[in-house]
Amino acid sequence: TKKRGGKSEETPRNIVVAARIRPMNDSEKASGATSICRADTINRAIILKNKSLTPFDRVYGPTASQKEIFDDLVKPSVQRAVRGYNCTIFAYGQTGTGKTYTMEGGNASKEILSAATDPTTGLIPRAVEEIFTEINNLGTTEYTVRVSYVELYNEELTDLLAPNTPYVPDKKRLRIYEDENHKGSVVVQGLEQVAVTHRHDVFNLLKAGAEKRRTAATLMNASSSRSHTVFSVTITMKETNEIGDEEMLKVGKLNLVDLAGSESIGRSGAVGKTAKEAGLINQSLLTLGRVITALTVSSGQHIPYRESKLTRLLQDALGGSSITSLIATVSPASCNLEETASTLDYALRAR
Ligand code: ADP
Ligand code: MG
Repeated sequence: TKKRGGKSEETPRNIVVAARIRPMNDSEKASGATSICRADTINRAIILKNKSLTPFDRVYGPTASQKEIFDDLVKPSVQRAVRGYNCTIFAYGQTGTGKTYTMEGGNASKEILSAATDPTTGLIPRAVEEIFTEINNLGTTEYTVRVSYVELYNEELTDLLAPNTPYVPDKKRLRIYEDENHKGSVVVQGLEQVAVTHRHDVFNLLKAGAEKRRTAATLMNASSSRSHTVFSVTITMKETNEIGDEEMLKVGKLNLVDLAGSESIGRSGAVGKTAKEAGLINQSLLTLGRVITALTVSSGQHIPYRESKLTRLLQDALGGSSITSLIATVSPASCNLEETASTLDYALRAR
């Protein structure tokens, strides 16, 4: 028999919305921009110019460390995932504000060996490490940890861990459907699931995936800021009941999602192909916002999962007993005021 989720643990807040302000960068400084955005941790607000935007569940200023954000925001989801629940963490924001830095880390391309002690290591490798630590703490001896890594570009899925190189768009092979044996559970047919045993495996996979993403972007003459990536870790644990006569499989999943840049089409002045891309991005980000909002209001409301591939893909890890966290990443610079305001507005609406 299979068991999904426990019953006894108390459910924490299901939607957690955070904002993270990155440090000013050199080009912002060089262009004479000033910092107009700060985190007010006491009031859980972001002060943008003279306005206080609130309430966030968490706010992080330019000096917040990767570890602090991990401990605060991601650890609770890891703890639930190893107990058989599904959880999702999103990074949402304008291109260049730190989504990938937050998720993957600052030195993804550097020496893998130094990465274990690197303070810039991102949430994904930290989460995988914590999963192994937690499994150990629970004393589970029979388990598997598998990861998948997909890109969603123009509503099409690409498997970033598939062995076929160079990149070929793969519409036929990857199909999203609902698992018949497991109501409410989403399966992507044909998706590569790689077993991992250590955090170092994950650095390698992230690197290979990022490389593939770059190749794909070049081949399609596109920018990776226009696609979403979903890194998923599935934990399967075998448990025996108290009298030891029945084995149960407990399955939990953690999704870490690096969303496409949220900057609006108006600002980039896009036309043609880019305009179409921007339209699809807007649509998937708006659907995501609507899904999260619908989940926060009382039950019974229709949840529009099916209106975008992103929400279909993540359907079994949004709502119910899962924790959904959204990290809105912003620049502190005056030149980005408009985008920052719209990112924070999106995040607060989701809450
Ligand atoms: P995005 O993925 O949102 O487009 P990136 O993660 O690529 O943005 O970040 C853009 C640049 O800013 C990168 O060089 C990254 O290393 C740097 N950066 C982002 N956030 C931080 C941070 N919190 N601390 C230091 N550098 C950061
Ligand atoms: Mg990025």
